[in-house]
Amino acid sequence: MTRRAPDSCPGVLRLHQAADGPLARIRLPGGRLEPDQLADLAAISVDLADGNIELTSRGNLQLRQVGDAVALTDRLAAAGLLPSRSHERVRNIVASPLSGRLGGLADVRDRAIALDEGLRATARLADLPGRVLFTLDDGRGDVSGLAGDIGVHAVGAEEFALVLAGADSGIRVGATHAVDLVLAAAEGFLDLDSGQWRLRDIEDGAARVVEHLGLTPGDERLEFVASQDIPIGWLDQDDGAVALGAGVRLGTLPARVAEFLAAVRRPIYVTPWRSLLVVDLEEWAAEQVVRVLAPMGLIFDADSPWLRVSACAGQPGCAKSRTDVRADAAAAVESGRVLPTRADAGTPPADPVQAAMVVAGGRQHWSGCERRCGRPPGAVTEITAMPDGYRVD
Ligand code: SF4
Repeated sequence: MTRRAPDSCPGVLRLHQAADGPLARIRLPGGRLEPDQLADLAAISVDLADGNIELTSRGNLQLRQVGDAVALTDRLAAAGLLPSRSHERVRNIVASPLSGRLGGLADVRDRAIALDEGLRATARLADLPGRVLFTLDDGRGDVSGLAGDIGVHAVGAEEFALVLAGADSGIRVGATHAVDLVLAAAEGFLDLDSGQWRLRDIEDGAARVVEHLGLTPGDERLEFVASQDIPIGWLDQDDGAVALGAGVRLGTLPARVAEFLAAVRRPIYVTPWRSLLVVDLEEWAAEQVVRVLAPMGLIFDADSPWLRVSACAGQPGCAKSRTDVRADAAAAVESGRVLPTRADAGTPPADPVQAAMVVAGGRQHWSGCERRCGRPPGAVTEITAMPDGYRVD
């Protein structure tokens, strides 16, 4: 199938007209936010949107019910969150959030910056579909399994595998050329002129990009799996500082919580698991963060049922939704119907059941219709609103 229509991914300059009002998506390459930027976002969400900051499965941010698009653009630009008007929607870069601080084979932080700069410096790459996802995995295997389009995966401190359409291409590249190769592959994607939004949707797309680059793959292939291992709680960095992983209920961060996080004055990473990392903390500061922000709803307990649950926008944000799935998912958590594992919940009912009867275990995604927007990759129980209740698969 050839898609001729331009993709409709929202941005800051092109808002999506959601059922509950205009929605803006803000790209955060590598997921990194400075504390001042988070403070600005909190204020912007209160002044110009619904008072919340949504975290997306690509480590980006969304604001709903945007009331003044011009003011939004001006304030995000002033906060350094709109460095390019031409390329804003193509800056979808997910990088291993803990890279350079804890674990991993290589440090991809500078590569995320360099890739973003390279994208913005290449005029024609503004033509990439907004759905293209770049992944930079530091070798721990946390983001290469996210079904990205183009990326690299560290196989050692100085060598990377080129990842195309979510799979190892067999191409290996030295660390200093890794970003250039990703950029060249992005141009290769455009040169295929397929009209498709994702590399995986092009027949033999990965092989054709490799051929276009004039490279010969080796025999070795790494296998990537979708990681459900969200970094949560107290994490000791290699340099003696502390990183705190914080879950965010259904990926919605209230502005008031964001203000407190910003006041910690440390870098913050938005992860592709709709969670946060606050890094470079001293121990006493990390203790204070947990003490203050856990009662405000941030999750520092890796066993919390909230971490097993995600949901699409549902009503009232999406006109296609059959119900308010987020409220139903929250009720399931709060009433103890989200169990630790899929096996705990037994065999799913054959027919749809009412919301209050849904019992499911392990990683689960609630959707207001069969499109299942935001469904994470990998093994996930799908809980889908149907005309006569929820189907559990
Ligand atoms: S899964 Fe359906 S209801 Fe949910 S956001 Fe997507 S289109 Fe809307």
